[in-house]
Amino acid sequence: MRCLYTVLGEIADERLTSTAALDRFDEEWDRNGPTEEHPYTGLYKSRGQQAVARAAATVAGLAADGATVMHRQQIIELGDGYAATITPDALVIAEDHQTVRVQRWLTGGPSESRKDDKVHGLLYLAAKLAVPGAEPVVEIRYVARDLDAVPVFTKTKTGEPTPPSEKVIENRRTYYREAAAGIVAGRFAPKPDDYSCPRCPYYFICPGSASGEEDSDISS
Ligand code: SF4
Repeated sequence: MRCLYTVLGEIADERLTSTAALDRFDEEWDRNGPTEEHPYTGLYKSRGQQAVARAAATVAGLAADGATVMHRQQIIELGDGYAATITPDALVIAEDHQTVRVQRWLTGGPSESRKDDKVHGLLYLAAKLAVPGAEPVVEIRYVARDLDAVPVFTKTKTGEPTPPSEKVIENRRTYYREAAAGIVAGRFAPKPDDYSCPRCPYYFICPGSASGEEDSDISS
């Protein structure tokens, strides 16, 4: 996954062709890919290559249409002295600079619940900073699938993109500000849920997971 996201960033940064992007992915895979043979290693690599080739073709198509594609870090002020740095996977700026689409590139399959991820509020603010005066559209592109990017803030009835309300944006700032304050204070309270915990590397030791609770009972 790390190999893939490294190269996806370079595709937008350096406008890599498909061939160059695939060469870079192979280099990254040799350097940082799985070191042990695993039954799915070949499958993971070929899926990564497909995603890289699709992303490079997408960026080339956008550039051919006159858009500028950027991968640039932005700093979002959260209040109370806290700030978040965020680098959108792709900022797609129209030729006339009147519209900007800020894209999050994901490798999995499409999911409606992904649209509610809080990071989308920060992506919206990052695009506002990158292109002042333009109204950003936040999108998810599933790079492993041959699908169009989908907007995440939409009108309920029509599904058309719409800007998030000021209340939504303020809630997202508050969420990340409180998270930053919690980290500074050393608060790392577990938040167990049935989806995330079984996939988490800390599952067997985390006091918040069902497995960790069992271990705690045994040791007490
Ligand atoms: S196992 Fe613990 S750290 Fe991991 S997702 Fe669950 S609650 Fe969070």
